[in-house]
Amino acid sequence: MNRHIPLWQSEQVIQEFPKLNEDKKTDVTIIGGGITGITTAFLLSQQGVRVVLIDRNRVANGTTGHTTAKVTAQHGMIYDEFIQHFGTEYARLYYESQKEAMRQIESIIESLQIDCQYEKQDAILYTNDEKQQKKLEKELTAYQQLDIKGNEVSELPFHIPASFALKMSNQAQFHPILYVKGMIDELARNDIEIYEQTEAVDIENSDHTIVRTNTQHTIVCDYVVQASHFPFYEGEAFYSARMYPSRSYLAAFSSKEMYPGGMYLSIDQPKKTLRTVTHNGKELWIVGGENHKTGQYKKQTSPYQLLQQFAENYLPVGNWEYQWSAQDYTTLDKMPYIGRLNKNRPEILIATGFRKWGMTNSTVAADLLSKMILDKESRYIDLYRPTRFQADPSLRKLITTNTNVATEYIRGKFAQERHTENEIKPGSALKTKQNGQVIGLYKDNEHKVHAIDTTCTHLGCEVNWNDTEKSWDCPCHGSRFTPEGKVIEGPAIKDLPKVPYNND
Ligand SMILES: Cc1cc2nc3c(=O)[nH]c(=O)nc-3n(C[C@H](O)[C@H](O)[C@H](O)COP(=O)(O)OP(=O)(O)OC[C@H]3O[C@@H](n4cnc5c(N)ncnc54)[C@H](O)[C@@H]3O)c2cc1C
Repeated sequence: MNRHIPLWQSEQVIQEFPKLNEDKKTDVTIIGGGITGITTAFLLSQQGVRVVLIDRNRVANGTTGHTTAKVTAQHGMIYDEFIQHFGTEYARLYYESQKEAMRQIESIIESLQIDCQYEKQDAILYTNDEKQQKKLEKELTAYQQLDIKGNEVSELPFHIPASFALKMSNQAQFHPILYVKGMIDELARNDIEIYEQTEAVDIENSDHTIVRTNTQHTIVCDYVVQASHFPFYEGEAFYSARMYPSRSYLAAFSSKEMYPGGMYLSIDQPKKTLRTVTHNGKELWIVGGENHKTGQYKKQTSPYQLLQQFAENYLPVGNWEYQWSAQDYTTLDKMPYIGRLNKNRPEILIATGFRKWGMTNSTVAADLLSKMILDKESRYIDLYRPTRFQADPSLRKLITTNTNVATEYIRGKFAQERHTENEIKPGSALKTKQNGQVIGLYKDNEHKVHAIDTTCTHLGCEVNWNDTEKSWDCPCHGSRFTPEGKVIEGPAIKDLPKVPYNND
């Protein structure tokens, strides 16, 4: 098995780009080279807008490189909930924006002739729980209210127990890296500037907007698009308090039988997702799920083992070939935040909170933000406005989300016993107390111990060791760090500081 390599990235297909090594001036700076940033850069450059795109790592290596890549408007069970919370008109607008995004993705694939295994598939939600079945039946009623093409399915083509299933026809799936590569190649052909290993560390406001980077160079521009998954520059808009991160795991298995078609998602906890892909001429089944809040995995068994058990129990799968995981953010009312950061900084635009449905939402965002920059009309501005506050459900969710953050914050500060490095297995870590301070000790495979301060550099929560992914994960806002403390993802910009360690 190719441990921890997303199937999508098993072959290095995207060209490398240099670090930013001089100051720049442009119309729009795009921070983040995932599907959102790349699509925005592509759409803007098509309109003659000058763009500079930077990524703190490699492009397409964030969540986009670790996704399941179902291209659908069936975003779990959402339409009945949106009708209840926003009304029929907004629920319908949400659906229509996703359908438009699907058409736009098809048109990008067609115009650039991208060979990205794009193929039509039906999307199916299923349950084997009486209470959940009632909810799914309501979702079907919502489909009827919103004129969404869908119907009940009597049986699943697997041995997975299911009492009710709901199909949305004519959806799609693709290879996310090949899709994004098609746009990146076009950007490169048109001399659009892309810089990797270049992190935005601040966005200043004077006569112009200035993006400061960790390479000590600046980009002066009229607009900034934060397509950085989490808007690291929050500008008093409190996105940290208005979103939470959730991780899920994926595994790809060889198949013993031909895949019967369809993209499946169970709505019973822990959710399970299923699709197929042809990889190196071989059919693989992708099985995913075991979602949990980042930094808060509570089970003893590894999520990958649980996925394997599920696959072996219910599906005709063979070898376990790839495994990977990722996280995405959910907003208080489950509607993404796409638009102006806040009214004081209208030149800073954000796109986040895709709730694990970013293939279409990224395109909705790219289209909407491009129109805002070009001063064009869009009927989706209010729907996705990041500064909205819907008392129900946002207030309830604001309280539960931040109570959870406060609990994790306090738990991290107080509940810590003293341990020694002898208790750590190579390749693993634990937290201990040293001179009254909580520190993290990681023992590498050469038995060298690396000590770090476990206080998250974002907002001060205590990170937890994630033994499955070998990372320090913040349970509050989802920042993740390598065993030695380097930022991997999330809102944190600074690494976890190293601390002197005395083994006495
Ligand atoms: C397990 C899982 C399965 C999913 N499956 C599906 C699916 O089947 N269908 C679907 O529609 N959606 C799915 N999603 C959601 C989808 O993958 C994401 O919403 C989408 O990839 C987000 O893309 P992005 O470009 O916004 O973010 P990313 O791909 O994370 O890109 C953000 C980029 O910004 C860079 N960056 C961050 N901070 C900075 C900074 N300060 N300076 C410079 N660069 C920075 C990062 O390095 C990164 O490359 C899934 C998500 C998960 C977690």
